[in-house]
Amino acid sequence: MSLTETLTGIFCHKCQYKVAEVLDGCPSCGSESIETVELKQTGTIVSFTIVHVGFGHMAKRAPYILAIVQTEENVKLTTVIDGVVDFNSVKIGDKVRFKTNDEEIGPLFQY
Ligand SMILES: [Zn+2]
Repeated sequence: MSLTETLTGIFCHKCQYKVAEVLDGCPSCGSESIETVELKQTGTIVSFTIVHVGFGHMAKRAPYILAIVQTEENVKLTTVIDGVVDFNSVKIGDKVRFKTNDEEIGPLFQY
């Protein structure tokens, strides 16, 4: 995966499902009539956890916030919220925005 500054996903022409991953087929209906799209880069934290012990390439990053973010387009994705200093300040409903695509982790978000 190369570093890009856009949040990409796929859009299904059959069922209009959008997902923030680049796949060969629609994860909702299985259709291959899909296209790669650029997704909106702002969203809301719907769930999160503080990871104290990361595994593999995530070990050096710990502790970090692993969150499920719902974008403006109602696409949910699992992402790391980068640059959080005070973990107690993180709340469900917080607005976050896409930061960058990390080669190992995938999309990173930030406040
Ligand atoms: Zn579909």
